[in-house]
Amino acid sequence: MRCGKCCMLKYSSGNVIHFSNRMCEHFDLKNGRCSCYSTRLSDSCVKVDLELLENNIELLPDTCAYRLLYEGKDLPCYHPLITGDKNSPLKAGATVKSLPVYSKSEYEESYNTLLKRQREEYWDADKAIKEGHKWLKKYKIRSVLSFTCPKKLNSKKSPN
Ligand code: SF4
Repeated sequence: MRCGKCCMLKYSSGNVIHFSNRMCEHFDLKNGRCSCYSTRLSDSCVKVDLELLENNIELLPDTCAYRLLYEGKDLPCYHPLITGDKNSPLKAGATVKSLPVYSKSEYEESYNTLLKRQREEYWDADKAIKEGHKWLKKYKIRSVLSFTCPKKLNSKKSPN
């Protein structure tokens, strides 16, 4: 469905898995795709297959088409197989583009801009701390979606 939600970095607390506001470093937020799809499995990605669905289904959001089908549920009305339009998830606001997420490049660019401003504007310590806090507040990793796991989590990496 190319919603991109499986490419959100995740963390767990107890039996809840949180999909954070930070995207996988290989995810291109502009076009909503993985930038290294054909070689992704040699890096930090996990293959979406039956084994993943059986053992770590919590790594996929509960709106994921693979997860829905595995759980015997219907596809959402905006799924391309139903609408015949590959852009329908995007139009329905069902992709990460509708969530408050950021990419690695945005994060790095913003950090470099912060340092550049600090140098060029000769900030004193108070100003540097204030601006640093503002920046941290914006880019702090936080939960955007969360799902309760049916069982204990293991240490698998992010899928897809
Ligand atoms: S695998 Fe699931 S979560 Fe990932 S893009 Fe496809 S539909 Fe979305």
